[in-house]
Amino acid sequence: MLKSLIRTVPHYPHQGIMFRDITTLLKDPAGLRDMVARIVARYQDMQIDVVAGIESRGFIVGTPVAYELNLGFVPIRKRGKLPSETVGRDYELEYGSDRIEIHVDAIKPGDRVLLVDDLIATGGTAEAATKLIEDMGGIVVECCFVIDLPDIGGRARLEGQGQKVFALCEFE
Ligand code: IMP
Repeated sequence: MLKSLIRTVPHYPHQGIMFRDITTLLKDPAGLRDMVARIVARYQDMQIDVVAGIESRGFIVGTPVAYELNLGFVPIRKRGKLPSETVGRDYELEYGSDRIEIHVDAIKPGDRVLLVDDLIATGGTAEAATKLIEDMGGIVVECCFVIDLPDIGGRARLEGQGQKVFALCEFE
């Protein structure tokens, strides 16, 4: 049911890309509730200290999860967006590179962190985020996504680095 609420937009943002669009899931009251509830159920007994979400759809998914778990939420943002002192990580994109950043005081050494984003494709973004969290002394308990695209290999890439990965649904 959750998967059927996700819209596929062909050729966005480029020719040949099948964009998996969660806005249709977010707009559906039962779908939104189900998405959050399923993630919360998985993590409520995993002694998470903080939920970290990757800009921007990771904010939408991660914040209600943190709220329901009675935890705080930490944004991991694209370059130059966070107002206070940051640490960052560069990562490769298909064309060029990008950088994600986090506030230096957002994660304390030993914090058990749940990392959240809407989708994992190559895993490059999530890999940079896990390294950023570990740079700060945090422990990534699991990387949680609404959607996994297993054929692209991001999950295997993260698992190959010893990370645990969970996704609510998969698309080819
Ligand atoms: P990766 O770094 O290749 O794993 O790409 C994942 C990042 O790109 C996530 O932050 C996603 O939000 C975004 N992304 C890539 N493809 C899609 C898609 O089809 N739908 C929504 N977001 C996507």
